Amino acid sequence: MHEYVRAGITLLSFDLLAKETGALHAITTRVGGESLPPFESLNLGLNVGDVRECVVRNYQLVSKALGIELDSFATCKQVHGDRVIEVTEKDEAKGPFSHYHEEADAMITKVPGPVLMVRVADCIPVLFFDPVQKVIGIAHAGWRGTVKEIAAKTAEVIVSRYNSDPARILVGIGPGIGPCCYEVDERVSSLFTKGFSSGEQLITERNGKQYLDLWEANRRQLLEVGIRAENIEVAGLCTSCQNQLLFSHRKDKGKTGRFGALIGIKE
Ligand SMILES: [Zn+2]
Repeated sequence: MHEYVRAGITLLSFDLLAKETGALHAITTRVGGESLPPFESLNLGLNVGDVRECVVRNYQLVSKALGIELDSFATCKQVHGDRVIEVTEKDEAKGPFSHYHEEADAMITKVPGPVLMVRVADCIPVLFFDPVQKVIGIAHAGWRGTVKEIAAKTAEVIVSRYNSDPARILVGIGPGIGPCCYEVDERVSSLFTKGFSSGEQLITERNGKQYLDLWEANRRQLLEVGIRAENIEVAGLCTSCQNQLLFSHRKDKGKTGRFGALIGIKE
């Protein structure tokens, strides 16, 4: 993963996906936007208490930096579930505020045009690109979505609907709260130790506290549905440790913005 500045905003990209000419993608950061504290500054969350004009302006900055029409953003109302929706031609050109009514935590498409986006601040964004079938997907995976295997389900829907070979799908597991910082209670840790094969490896204990590795939980479930290890790039960036660069719901005690993960098909 590498960091760069374009049109005044700081962005991140996966090396694995940046090599591909058939897709554009980015992880936005909190740097370079116009929102004021506690949303400083490139907040893309509409329903977090920020001034709407600032959020709209931030979307304009992202669209300018990436050369994407503002109308192209396709988003959904993220509810920590496992529903995957398909974005089709008729859904195009609705903008960052489209689909917002529709509850889902993953989107897929084969249409060039819409740029699929999830917004996060500790939860893990997962990006998918099949360069052979030229299809994309994106998922939002917090602990609930990870338990429901939203990333694996997104891969499976891409395979079944678009006839993709899982061995050819490239995946980027984006920044999120890391095993260094993600303390969980007994109830959550037991869902992973009991619900995942070798799930105890996903939990580490330090000073009597339990920490969950969501990156690895997502990586493993993708391997189980046939994604190849060499085709998965894990950003390994912890939102809590890297709080100057990224929004963290935990670190910022719930009053914070959202950064975006986005992917689109290039025509
Ligand atoms: Zn950390």
